Amino acid sequence: MPPQPKRKHSKGRRDRRRAHDALQAANLTACPNCGQMRLPHTVCPNCGQYKGREVVEVEKEKKK
Ligand SMILES: [Zn+2]
Repeated sequence: MPPQPKRKHSKGRRDRRRAHDALQAANLTACPNCGQMRLPHTVCPNCGQYKGREVVEVEKEKKK
């Protein structure tokens, strides 16, 4: 049997621990080519471009 905590932490201590647990919204920037919001330093998932004209991935038109 592993070592166990000697006593329960107080509500205040628990809440202080959780003070840094909040999620933050992702940092989004507008794609300079198509204007759609995307994560910085990533290939745009909408138009497949990165750093101007450099086409890294060719994406097909949406087919349904
Ligand atoms: Zn784009």
